[in-house]
Amino acid sequence: MRRLPVVLIVEDEPAIAELISVNLKHSGFRPVWAMDSLTAQAELDAVLPDVILLDWMLPGESGLMLAKRWRAHPRTKAVPIIMLTARGDEIDRVAGLDAGADDYIAKPFSTKELLARIRAVLRRRAPEQDAGLAKVGDLVLDPATYRVTFEGEHLKLGPTEFKLLHYLMTHAERVHSRSQLLDKVWGDHVFIEERTVDVHVKRLREALGAAGQMVDTVRGAGYRLTVQTAIAKAV
Ligand code: CA
Repeated sequence: MRRLPVVLIVEDEPAIAELISVNLKHSGFRPVWAMDSLTAQAELDAVLPDVILLDWMLPGESGLMLAKRWRAHPRTKAVPIIMLTARGDEIDRVAGLDAGADDYIAKPFSTKELLARIRAVLRRRAPEQDAGLAKVGDLVLDPATYRVTFEGEHLKLGPTEFKLLHYLMTHAERVHSRSQLLDKVWGDHVFIEERTVDVHVKRLREALGAAGQMVDTVRGAGYRLTVQTAIAKAV
């Protein structure tokens, strides 16, 4: 099952927070409500949200201060922030964006517009979240969704083959001995025979279909994943 995007709502007015929460839930998000800056910081420390909705006027530290701090911190600096505020004039809009907010929405707002803004910041941030994707030639592996595709076609892999492929793809073009693969993919299981690697490499090749030839046997040394064989054989 796909993880629902988490939206941290930092808002001191329960009625507004409740309204936003209900709408987010209906739209496939997981809202988390923090009523002040301390709670918001605690929530952020526990789970990194996908988006932060940040009210400007909060008891204690203001939303503007929080935005500046979170932008400066390595852990939180990439999380999109949408400022919510009752002040709608140009000066404040600039101050909010200067503090590092990605977008700005003035109260009262329509929940439809808010949802559209949330989706927009998520789309803009999406390429950065692709960092976990492994790509070698036309072979793509997404560890977040457990999907493997070759030339856009979905491939079915067993869990060990998936781990093995993930390792080979993130260390492509390098030759790995059987014992190195056992160590990196299977972990510290000294009782597993090296022949096990051969068995799973064979299964992996079968599961990859046309991309199977990218898994190269290097005689006397081990295995590697390469785009070169695919090109060489295609010529
Ligand atoms: Ca407020």
